[in-house]
Amino acid sequence: MIDTNTEEETGVGNYFISNYPQYSFWKPEHVPTLLSLLNSPPENNPLPLGIYFHIPFCRKRCHFCYFKVYTDKKASEINAYIDSGIKEIEKYGQMPYLKNRKPKFIYFGGGTPSYLSVSQLTDLTDRMKAVFPWDEAEEVAFECEPGTLTEKKLDQIHKLGVTRLSLGVENFNDHILEINGRAHRSKEIIRSYNYAKEIGFPQINIDLIAGMIDETEENWKECVQQAISLEPECVTIYQMEIPYNTTIYKEMKESGKFTAPVADWPTKRRWVSEAFDAFVEAGYTVTSAYTVVKNPETVKFVYRDALWGGADMLGTGVASFGHIGGIHVQNEHDIGKYLERVTENEFPIYRAYPTNEDETLIREFIFQLKLGRVDLKHFEKKFSESIVNRFREPIELLEREGYLKLDDNSITMTREGLLQVDRLLHEFFLKEHQNARYA
Ligand code: SF4
Repeated sequence: MIDTNTEEETGVGNYFISNYPQYSFWKPEHVPTLLSLLNSPPENNPLPLGIYFHIPFCRKRCHFCYFKVYTDKKASEINAYIDSGIKEIEKYGQMPYLKNRKPKFIYFGGGTPSYLSVSQLTDLTDRMKAVFPWDEAEEVAFECEPGTLTEKKLDQIHKLGVTRLSLGVENFNDHILEINGRAHRSKEIIRSYNYAKEIGFPQINIDLIAGMIDETEENWKECVQQAISLEPECVTIYQMEIPYNTTIYKEMKESGKFTAPVADWPTKRRWVSEAFDAFVEAGYTVTSAYTVVKNPETVKFVYRDALWGGADMLGTGVASFGHIGGIHVQNEHDIGKYLERVTENEFPIYRAYPTNEDETLIREFIFQLKLGRVDLKHFEKKFSESIVNRFREPIELLEREGYLKLDDNSITMTREGLLQVDRLLHEFFLKEHQNARYA
C-alpha cells in the first residue's frame, strides 16, 4: 500500500524515472548483443530513428546538477571531442542495421549544447548531416543555457534547422539563480528569449524548476506569471530532486543532514499544480506530468513521444543513453575513456541491457502514464495482452487512492496522481526491479 505520508521531506535520491529497467541493471556483458544487432540488416519496416548527441560542457556547475559536466575545457579540447563524436557517428553509419536510415528526430542535449561556438556548431552539424541526413527529420531539438546565447549564435542555430529551442531558465529571480549556482541571470533570459522569438523558431520551450533553494510562495507565483507573459509554445516544470552526485548532497553529507535545503514534496507538488492552473487559465493545456503547451494540436515533442513509444535512438557522445532494437545502451561516462575508445576505433559503449517483451511493455506503459493517459486498445494491439489483466492489482490500488481513473478504453491519471507519477510507477515494475537504485 502506498503511504502518502512518507518521504515528504526532500531527501537524497532520484525522483524522475527516465527509463526502465533502471540503469543499475545495464551491464558491460550485454554489449555484444547490441553489436550483433548492429551487424544485422534492419527490419522490413524499421522503427523511427532518432539521434542524440551529448555535449558535456557548461560554463559553471549548478549546485543541483547530477550530470557529469566539464567546466574547464579549452576550445582545442572541445574540437577534439567533436571530432570523436563524428567518428563515432560515422562508425554507426556504416553498420547494416543503421546504414542509409534517415533520422526522424535529432536531439542536442547536455551539458550545454549552446556552449559551443558558432563555428563548432556548424562543423558538428554539417558532418553529422553528411552521415545521417536531416531532410526527413520532423524535429531538431537543442538545449540552451540563456547566458551562452548571442544574436549571432541564435541566428546560426536557427539556420542549422533547429525546430525546438529549449531554454534552461529554471527561475527568473537573480538571487535564486545565483544561490543555486546557475551561470545566467534574468536579463540574459529575456534578451535571448526575445531574440529567439523574433527570428522565428517554430517552438520555444522554457524549463522551470519548482522548489529551488530559497524559493518562496511569492516568487514562484511571479516566476509562473513571467513565463506566461513570454508566451512560449511549451513550458516544462520539474520538481527539484537531489540525486547523490550533486553539490547540494555533498554539503548535506558534510554537515550530517538528511533533508535537503529545499521545499518538501507536498509543497513542490502544490507549486506545480498552481502553475498548471495558471497556465490553463492563460489558454495552455497540460500534456504530461511536466509540460503545458499552448496548442496541443500543433506543438509536439517528437523526441519524447517517439522514444517513449519504443523508437530507435542512437545515443552518441560521452555518457549518452540510447535504445536500439529494444536494447538499452549507455556510452562510457568519463570523457578520457570515451575519447580513448573512439581513437582505438571501437564503439565507446560502456553497458547495455536487452529488454524482453514484458519489460518493453512495462517501459512503454509507465511512460504513457507520465503523459497522463494510456490508450488500452493500443497496448492490446501492440503486445497482445490486456493491460488491465496484467496490472489489475496496482491499477486498483492507485484507483482507490485517487491517483488514476479506469474506463473501458483508457487509464487517466488524476491531477494528484500526475503530480507524483514517478513515485507511483514503481508499483508496475517487476519485483526484481522494485527497490533498485536508479543510477
Ligand atoms: S547547465 Fe545543466 S548540465 Fe550544466 S551544470 Fe547546470 S544543470 Fe548541469
